[in-house]
Formats: sequence, structure tokens, C-alpha cells
Amino acid sequence: MFVDIHTHIDNQSVIRILDDNFEEKVLTTWGMHPWEVGFSSLKRTDSADMVWGIGEVGLDKVHKETFDKQIEVFEEMIRLSESYRKPMIVHCVRAYSEIIEIRKKTKATMPWVIHGFSSSVETMRQLLRYDMYISLGEVLYHNENQAVKILKDIPLDRLFLETDVSGRDIKAVYAKAAGLIGCDLEFLCSKIFENYGRLEAAH
Ligand SMILES: [Zn+2]
Repeated sequence: MFVDIHTHIDNQSVIRILDDNFEEKVLTTWGMHPWEVGFSSLKRTDSADMVWGIGEVGLDKVHKETFDKQIEVFEEMIRLSESYRKPMIVHCVRAYSEIIEIRKKTKATMPWVIHGFSSSVETMRQLLRYDMYISLGEVLYHNENQAVKILKDIPLDRLFLETDVSGRDIKAVYAKAAGLIGCDLEFLCSKIFENYGRLEAAH
């Protein structure tokens, strides 16, 4: 089983699961990307029981001018996540401390997966302390030193892998991560599938 915890199909943020026969299951998430908060308004098109989770949502300081609005939308998403019991896929660029502060402030209990993680080991530890999951993708290819450092420190029960917009094959991403960790590919698949099971159970 290969769980791709965050990718996009037809402009939709999804979770893609490939089983051992490479049969595909696609789970949709609903949300508003931080880049969109400046020009879209929040409209819910899907009913809550049709979506698996909330995502991708979050904070992005590359878009500084909309940051206050991003926080407002993110907090609204957290309220939906908590009231409908939907896990969240979180996008974060240069705003890890704000994400942690908001998690503390809102006392959110649903699982959050910080996707596309690319920061220090210290930041990663902080996120783990507040019960979040870490998902890695492209960083495995572009910054092997940092990825190795981070991978060694992420407990396997908190790790996810993703392709996002890279167009890579999720099986190759798993093989890459297993190589960097120095573990068996099947073992890594089974650990991440267990993690997915925990998100599933939180619903
Ligand atoms: Zn994405």
C-alpha cells in the first residue's frame, strides 16, 4: 500500500492510496489554499460527508500581504475540522511558529499533517510535541542532507510521504525515503499505512 497523503488531481487537493494491485482510491479534501484567500471567498460546495478531510489550508508568508486574512480563514477551517471531525492537511511556509501558536490557542484535537515540510529538526520536534504529523516529498530530492537529518528524527509513527505538484511517482518517493532512512520499503509502507489508519480512525 502506498499512501500519497497530499497531491492534486483536477485542481482538487486529494489523498491517493494505491493498494498492492495498484488499484487506486482517491479521497478528496476541502479547503482554501493560503494563496487563494486574497481573491476567493469561502463557499462550501461539498457536503461534509462527501469529503475525507480539510485541506490544503494553512499559512504562507511568501504572501505577506494577505497574512491576516490567511489566519482568519485558517481558524475558520480549524473550526470546520473540529466540528465535522475531519483531519487537516496543512500548508506552511515560514509560519511554523504561528501554526504551533494557533494549534495551542484553538486547542484543536484533530490530526494535522504538515505537508511539504522543509525546515529544521528543531521545528519538526516542536510540531511533534503538539501532536502533528510531518509529510515530506520534494525535499527528499533537493536537500538530501537536511532530509536525512529530519528523517532520522521523525518517529515512523508520525511520518507521511507525498507527491504534491511534483508529478513524481509515489512509489519512487517511498523508495527514495526508504533508502535515506536505511529501512526496508515494505516496512516503511506498512508504518505509513498504520499512520493513515490513525487519521481514518479520528473521523
Ligand atoms: Zn499542494
